[in-house]
Amino acid sequence: MSGERHGELLAGWGRACPSAAWVVDARRAEDVTACLSEPGHYLARGLGRAYGDAAQCAGGTVLDCTALDRVVDLDLTTGRVRVEAGCSLDALLRLIVPRGFFVPVTPGTRYVTVGGAIASDVHGKNHHRDGTISAHVERLDLVTPTARLECGPDKDAELFWATAGGMGLTGIITDATLRLVPIETSRMLVDTERSADLDACMARMSETDADHRYSVAWVDSLARGRHLGRSVITLGDHAGISDLPAKLRDDPLEFNPRQLLAVPLTPPVSLLNPMTVTAFNEAWYRRAPQKRSGELQRISTFFHPLDGLGNWNALYGPRGFTQYQFVVPFGAEEVVRRVLERLSSARKASFLVVLKRFGAAGEGHLSFPTAGWTLALDLPLGTAGLALILDELDEVVASAGGRVYLSKDGRVKPEVLHAMYPRLDEWAEIRRSVDPQGMLASDLGRRLRLAGSRPRRSSRAFRGGGR
Ligand SMILES: Cc1cc2nc3c(=O)[nH]c(=O)nc-3n(C[C@H](O)[C@H](O)[C@H](O)COP(=O)(O)OP(=O)(O)OC[C@H]3O[C@@H](n4cnc5c(N)ncnc54)[C@H](O)[C@@H]3O)c2cc1C
Repeated sequence: MSGERHGELLAGWGRACPSAAWVVDARRAEDVTACLSEPGHYLARGLGRAYGDAAQCAGGTVLDCTALDRVVDLDLTTGRVRVEAGCSLDALLRLIVPRGFFVPVTPGTRYVTVGGAIASDVHGKNHHRDGTISAHVERLDLVTPTARLECGPDKDAELFWATAGGMGLTGIITDATLRLVPIETSRMLVDTERSADLDACMARMSETDADHRYSVAWVDSLARGRHLGRSVITLGDHAGISDLPAKLRDDPLEFNPRQLLAVPLTPPVSLLNPMTVTAFNEAWYRRAPQKRSGELQRISTFFHPLDGLGNWNALYGPRGFTQYQFVVPFGAEEVVRRVLERLSSARKASFLVVLKRFGAAGEGHLSFPTAGWTLALDLPLGTAGLALILDELDEVVASAGGRVYLSKDGRVKPEVLHAMYPRLDEWAEIRRSVDPQGMLASDLGRRLRLAGSRPRRSSRAFRGGGR
């Protein structure tokens, strides 16, 4: 049974705009059904890794799903797992990697829940090959304010696709069945190479993507002029047994990632500023090999390097940070250049800038990825002029047929959203059919008028922090 409800200040990973809500622990699907039978506003929350306000519901009730975390069934013959939605990818990987399986899609952190991953329809470094996570989901159990039902690509498909990327606003996922990827080892074979500028990086990624399951580029956000967009590309594939040296063959599926350090407290100001980021970027770029092939890396090093440092989001200080992630279609490469130019000339330092190529879009109405280039930049908040610059860039992205990622967003204006997500009305119609009273709500949904309920003020003023 779920515990007592308690009041809590909740924020996203960017720690920028917390709001107060009642929090209830959901331990079983029945807890979720019982909760939603009472009038009110409700939202599911996983591990709070969405950067902005997607997992908050000011004044409402947030169902913390992290204790809904059992593995219901793992079929090693067919490579399928049925898990409760609060199970984290970290826990799942610790179970499946030693048994010779990997998740079909992982974001850049293992600390997300399966439910949260499906609600954001997450992508990984393999989108060009494997699409988003929803392409590997066979079925979901969903609790809506009007029903408890099962859906999937072959059953109640409209609702399934509205839920994949639907940011928790079409129902609370209680469990899901995923198809896994067989692996022989827990190591990756990685090629790394530097590119001197953006054109070289894009040309090289376009050439090499098809040959590797995983690919990504780290971009120096502060490089300007002829160095604009200088980057380090990494390309990876799961290593086979024959790729391992003899000493690793005894335990080829060993997987026990550890958190090495944690940030002990929030510094009074962001430690990631133009000075520190310039020094870091210079060192990172110089340290990368000009070209190196076939390096063996652990899964955690390749996919989740930031997970080695606990609550690194605190490094951005009390004002927090945002991630600006957008996608533009192939052919609109100039937009990527313009965004980098605009931010580097305004000295808006980003220590983490990642460029990827997406493959074809999936079927989710609000799913973010579409074929093209996606760039993601972590930016400290509270620096002069940033809000206006990002508003201006939203227009540029939208006019090029692109969009920003709701799971990273805490600031985009509702006016540009329809241009970015042309299937929004279709999605809202499906949402209304399962939640006619608008009981499922979030701060993001209210800000963007997704959920049809009027924006509400947070019941407590912003004080920074929040979990
Ligand atoms: C370091 C880092 C790297 C990341 N890298 C990537 C990446 O490479 N690719 C990518 O796509 N994303 C990435 N993300 C974003 C992250 O994968 C998503 O925000 C994901 O949704 C977080 O999962 P969560 O369990 O923390 O969900 P939360 O942040 O708690 O919630 C996110 C959304 O999911 C909904 N939700 C949560 N649980 C449920 C449920 N049981 N039923 C219905 N709705 C639910 C919430 O209502 C909310 O709208 C990254 C985030 C971080 C911090």
